[in-house]
Amino acid sequence: MVEPADIDALVEEARRAVAGAGTTEEIREVASAVAGKKSALAGVGRGLGALEPEQRKELGRRLHEARAAVDQLIEGRRAEITAAELARELAQSRVDLTEFIPGSVPAPKARGHLNLVTQTQAALEDVFVGMGFLVEEGPEIETDWYNFGALNIPPAHPARGMWDTLYLDLGPPESTLLRTHTSPVQIHLMERAVAQGQLPIHAVMPGRCYRRDTPDARHLPVFHQIEGLVVDKGISFADLAGTIEVFTTAYFGPDIHSRLRPAYFPFTEPSAEYEVTCTICLGSGCQTCSQTGWIELGGCGMVDPAVFDAVGIDPDLWTGFAFGFGIDRCAQMRHQIADMRVLTDNDLRFLRQF
Ligand SMILES: [Zn+2]
Repeated sequence: MVEPADIDALVEEARRAVAGAGTTEEIREVASAVAGKKSALAGVGRGLGALEPEQRKELGRRLHEARAAVDQLIEGRRAEITAAELARELAQSRVDLTEFIPGSVPAPKARGHLNLVTQTQAALEDVFVGMGFLVEEGPEIETDWYNFGALNIPPAHPARGMWDTLYLDLGPPESTLLRTHTSPVQIHLMERAVAQGQLPIHAVMPGRCYRRDTPDARHLPVFHQIEGLVVDKGISFADLAGTIEVFTTAYFGPDIHSRLRPAYFPFTEPSAEYEVTCTICLGSGCQTCSQTGWIELGGCGMVDPAVFDAVGIDPDLWTGFAFGFGIDRCAQMRHQIADMRVLTDNDLRFLRQF
């Protein structure tokens, strides 16, 4: 015979089963087990018919309360599970729309740029590298030998007057100076090539040079040169002229050409001044070019055999040419800058134009 305590135990059992259900599927199975037609509580209901009316009434009331309580437990748990599952589904399918909102990007920091002279040097290097030259550099403080002696300009030679030299009092054994041109790099390069057996040479040598000059529209005491040197077998003056012309049109544009005029330099023989079409009037003649249509850019020539002797290269086996010109002067001509001094004035109104 069923006692009220048995019904309480069944309710308690149902409570535990319901609490253990975690998914919709589980709560459906639990509901069927504890409140369905085949559940223990249903069995109790079916047994009521065999009881005395008084007992049946009492137990029936308890059974009714128990089933209502179990139904309530099931529905409560089912609601919890549904809510949790919905929340989980929403979390998984959530789209973060903030990803599509443009962010607040901090304003870029104001950055400087390369000075026109540096830009010009890079552009010149690019042209020569494109022609197969290597780029080499050397020291700005030189000995008398590298700046003059090895370049066929012995002490007291009148040609030294061509360069107003800034000497450094660094003491014996050798007189030192701030290089007046990039030509000493040629000597270093040839010495290295001879020592390492690396002839031939095809190189350009850009760098800073110093002369005791008063700054004016076309001169600076600190300026930049680029020097070229080719040492190879069978090199002729025609190779020099052709190289100069190819460079000129490549750097200044197809309207600007070159010409060579006889000149004298101690370290080249024969030597020439290198002139290019006036970039202002394009050759028709103007005040800048003194109505000639041409502007001098630099010097060049075939390497003097005495220079080859100084570095140990056999002038009967090897020939070569050299050329050099001002990088600042190139920038001045290409951009039609009237006064070269603006290149070093640090006036932002000027510098920002390039
Ligand atoms: Zn002109």
